[in-house]
Amino acid sequence: MEATIALLPGDGVGPEVIAEAKKVLVAAADVSGGRLRFHEALIGGDAIDRTGTALPDETLEVCRNADAVMLGAVGGPKWDDPSASVRPEQGLLGLRKALALFANLRPVRVHPALASSGPVRAEVVSGLDLLVVRELTGGIYFGERGRRGDPTGEAAFDTLVYSTGEIERIIRRGAEAARGRQSRLTSVDKANVLESSRLWRATADRVVREEFPDVRIEHVLVDAAAMYLIQQPKRFDVMVTGNMFGDILTDEASVLAGSMGLLPSASLGQGRPGLYEPIHGSAPDIAGRGIANPIGMILSAAMLCRYSLDWPAGAERIESAVDRVIADGARTIDIASQGRESIGTADMGDRIAEAVAGEKGTGVSFSRCG
Ligand code: NAD
Repeated sequence: MEATIALLPGDGVGPEVIAEAKKVLVAAADVSGGRLRFHEALIGGDAIDRTGTALPDETLEVCRNADAVMLGAVGGPKWDDPSASVRPEQGLLGLRKALALFANLRPVRVHPALASSGPVRAEVVSGLDLLVVRELTGGIYFGERGRRGDPTGEAAFDTLVYSTGEIERIIRRGAEAARGRQSRLTSVDKANVLESSRLWRATADRVVREEFPDVRIEHVLVDAAAMYLIQQPKRFDVMVTGNMFGDILTDEASVLAGSMGLLPSASLGQGRPGLYEPIHGSAPDIAGRGIANPIGMILSAAMLCRYSLDWPAGAERIESAVDRVIADGARTIDIASQGRESIGTADMGDRIAEAVAGEKGTGVSFSRCG
């Protein structure tokens, strides 16, 4: 078994955290005796500086030829000029579009040892294991928009459109994910107001009834979902929702974990490759200091094993190594309680890689080169 992984370190802390994820993947591959090949390519501000564009053709080619793509982060103050015609985010949005990545998966797990590091009461979040599945290439962010004249001056509009096909495929992703968990799917919409939500709700019900009779579906209005996420997040197993609601709810959910640095994500299309990145940005305030938390990137690599390499044992190996290192007390500065000693990015990566290597083999054949 062989796999090729495109590595896009990007900007700020991106290269720092991606180096640790690579280290951990290599450890997981070594212990199983197979073959992983890494191809590095430019994206974001780094790519603008070197090539004048945020997503060079060569990068797209490397990604298209890979089994999976790992991305660090893009952006930073150096490229923040709002009037600039070339911006780092174009690299990420262009990649999502080019690879037709319509489903964004964001798991939010809260290790009991870290339950008190966030703003929500420890007993509310301790042991939380929630997956948010967000539609990524449709809805109001992609609908017709514009300005028009108005007696008071000007009016602006953005259009929220969802087709049956778009809804069906994201509901299937959510239901498939629920099947591998507690088989509970919460579809979030605003069906009391929006016509697009009424189509969403009816389609979700039909897909689950016809194709996933073993999955239990409930519908929650987005305003209530926002409240439940803080009050009783453990009532959710898998939450599936549209682009804008998902954008907002996933940021809210990330607060439950205590640090941006902890959370992974996967963006998937119909076939390969998937895109795996931490939910955080380039963190320019801490870049270059070797203190960024690499766990979000490392857990993204675990998702890569699960969804793109069809290697769930590799994913579980990495996830349980992360759990063990946290349980043993290792903390980067963002998750260290006051007065407690913290370790750097590379040290955290080393410890997780060692924990991965220390686990028994799974029998899956992997090796590495490059
Ligand atoms: P950010 O996620 O980079 O940082 C927010 C806060 O979280 C900062 O205090 C930062 O130090 C902290 N943080 C982030 N990652 C961390 C980690 N791994 N370990 C410890 N602490 C961490 O968001 P921002 O400051 O709003 O944005 C900075 C830049 O990143 C901007 O240019 C923005 O456009 C870009 N951005 C990129 C992505 C992406 O590449 N997917 C996502 C969001 C923001």
